[in-house]
Amino acid sequence: MIKIAIDGPSGAGKGVLAKALSAKLGYVYVDTGALYRAIGLHFHRCGSDGSDVARIASEVAGVEVDIAYENGEQQVYLKGENVSSQIRLPEISMMASAVSKIPEVRAHLLELQRGMAERHNVIMDGRDIGTVILPDANVKIFLTASPEARAERRYKELIEKGIDTSYEEVLADMKQRDENDRSRDIAPAIPAEDAVTLDNSKLDIPGTIQAALAIIREKVGEV
Ligand code: C5P
Repeated sequence: MIKIAIDGPSGAGKGVLAKALSAKLGYVYVDTGALYRAIGLHFHRCGSDGSDVARIASEVAGVEVDIAYENGEQQVYLKGENVSSQIRLPEISMMASAVSKIPEVRAHLLELQRGMAERHNVIMDGRDIGTVILPDANVKIFLTASPEARAERRYKELIEKGIDTSYEEVLADMKQRDENDRSRDIAPAIPAEDAVTLDNSKLDIPGTIQAALAIIREKVGEV
């Protein structure tokens, strides 16, 4: 099986790149952020703000999360309910970032992610795919861009979905999440030693795809 890991901060365009590569190569795209979002949604619904770490740590093993594919699109299930839309709300982004710091949460989601890579050729995006989940991935790309470029993209995405927000709010959230994700002790969002860093602040989507394909070809040959 071929494993392609794409890690990097929020809004770098990991999802767009991974989806395009999955369509081109015919590999399964696994969006791992959606799994942390589903856990975040569960505890949000239980009235948590993410600070009650001991409770989340002790209850997370009972929170059933799964992924399935419908017309090639990943769907996320929380205790049997399709929550693929609800997990995109800004308050759930923050909850996902909060719960993802808890070791029990990461342990709970580990096998689901590794299992996908055992059964399929995958393009998996996240924060710790190259470092923790698939340390033996054939290709590791760390996709990044300036916070301003990333906030601009995320802001446009939210507005297109009809979610009411401002650029300033999105940028502040982005910086806060970057700090949370980078500075945590467990699975910090940093490049694996053998990852290739791709900064796409000045690249458009086709340019990013071409650059990623060049990295993939160099590692695994013609695809
Ligand atoms: O990628 P996305 O923005 O959907 O991820 C939501 C949150 O989940 C991130 O802010 C990050 O804290 C967390 N996450 C993680 N490890 C992953 C994927 C996401 O910690 N592999």
